[in-house]
Amino acid sequence: MGLRQSGVAAIMTRTPDQTAPSRALHVITWGCQMNVYDSARMGDVLRPLGYQPVDTPDTADMIILNTCHIRDRAAEKVFSELGRLRLIKETRKAEGQQTIIAVAGCVAQAEGQEILARAPYVDIVLGPQTYHRLPEMVARAARAGNAVIETDFPTEQKFDFLPEAEAPQTPGNYTAFLTIQEGCDKFCSFCVVPYTRGAESSRSVQSVLAEARRMAQSGVREISLLGQNVNAYHGEGPDGTVWDLTHLAYALAEIPGLSRIRYTTSHPRDMNDALIAAHRDLPELMPFLHLPVQSGSDRILRAMNRGHTADEYRDLVHRLRAAKPDLALSSDFIIGHPGETDEDFEATMQLVRDVGFALAYSFKYSPRPGTPAAGAPLQVPEDVKDARLQALQKLLREQQDAFNASMVGKTVPVLFTGKGRKPGQIAGRSPWLQPVHVIGPDRLIGQTVPVRITERLTNSLGGILEEENVYA
Ligand code: SAM
Ligand code: SF4
Repeated sequence: MGLRQSGVAAIMTRTPDQTAPSRALHVITWGCQMNVYDSARMGDVLRPLGYQPVDTPDTADMIILNTCHIRDRAAEKVFSELGRLRLIKETRKAEGQQTIIAVAGCVAQAEGQEILARAPYVDIVLGPQTYHRLPEMVARAARAGNAVIETDFPTEQKFDFLPEAEAPQTPGNYTAFLTIQEGCDKFCSFCVVPYTRGAESSRSVQSVLAEARRMAQSGVREISLLGQNVNAYHGEGPDGTVWDLTHLAYALAEIPGLSRIRYTTSHPRDMNDALIAAHRDLPELMPFLHLPVQSGSDRILRAMNRGHTADEYRDLVHRLRAAKPDLALSSDFIIGHPGETDEDFEATMQLVRDVGFALAYSFKYSPRPGTPAAGAPLQVPEDVKDARLQALQKLLREQQDAFNASMVGKTVPVLFTGKGRKPGQIAGRSPWLQPVHVIGPDRLIGQTVPVRITERLTNSLGGILEEENVYA
């Protein structure tokens, strides 16, 4: 899954509870799509208390920093951001205004006590599994004047206690994320997720379908199902049996208005024949699959505890492409896992040449405190990691360019989601997630229409409406 820093989370607005005073909430979101989704849900939880989103921290009564711990100097980044927020809190205090600062997400989970020790002006520290309790935490922080820390893994499932997710109300939200599964039991050697997000658990089918229906009714046409191991989904179905992701995808495809379904992130071990067949038989399932492999060396895959070999991955890709010939793949790679030799790295390069990826995210291995690989011998020197990463990224970029170039001359369905950068342009996404823009009327926004791709630009594709006269 590509990690990115996303600024303010897209939190939808609604009239606040009439009895609650109006307060300003600013959420800063770091990390993956799941954090973006969580930030929106924290907004939902706080809305009945009168909290409305604002896009700057300077005027906010409450600031939430939703953090990511996956790599780099995550904790240091948090403390540096907190230093900035402290100044805002002090300035507002001098003006007689209170500011609640909350640190949420995976760094909060991993470093809760350390955060309170080093940043005593933080009012609330909460892990990813406890944000349904935010209103109570806000009340406790205000009452006691002491910091509140909630980083346990509660026995209750937060999704059972959250208010209904606010469906996007504003026009223009034609795509949405929907978290269906959380946590992980796979314990890859390098990864903090099992420690910060906890054990794997799935939401019930009914709650997922209800949320998806609300999204579709409000105009959403494309849903991306989210989970750390989304294809390990095993939610309780309305009939009391356990549904897997394939079963869920078929049910979602029945929802009027929903025309596109995506899911991320999948683990190769959890790709089964039924899901592969669904890619062939279910047109709503988009032909683009993020399937991280991390390494092409069996020795390193074993050290990583990934549970499959490089050839098993190749075979899986072969079966997927046999079922759905136009399926494109994206992946994640970790370069410089402890013990990685030149030979192991070359095996990764060979796997990339063999498979061919439309998109990929590649990272230098970053030791995560408390994970098995962090203390392993044979850590790879930084300069070696740098050189290998550069070589891999060059190859991946070439493959991505070739994939995008192969679109020129083809007609593809584009879901238009908004205006383009230039006057008269509208923009959207191809089934393979590529940004596409055309000159066309605004009324096509929210619709999926055929576009003939005429040019490839650096980060997008340009095209013309296939049936120009129909839309004139
Ligand atoms: N569950 C997914 C899987 O099994 O592939 C991955 C989820 S992880 C949150 C997202 C990506 O972050 C991983 O695929 C991996 O490439 C990268 N990542 C995780 N831990 C890392 C580490 N310690 N150093 C560098 N990259 C890391
Ligand atoms: Fe992390 Fe591995 Fe679980 Fe993915 S499968 S979340 S990489 S432990």
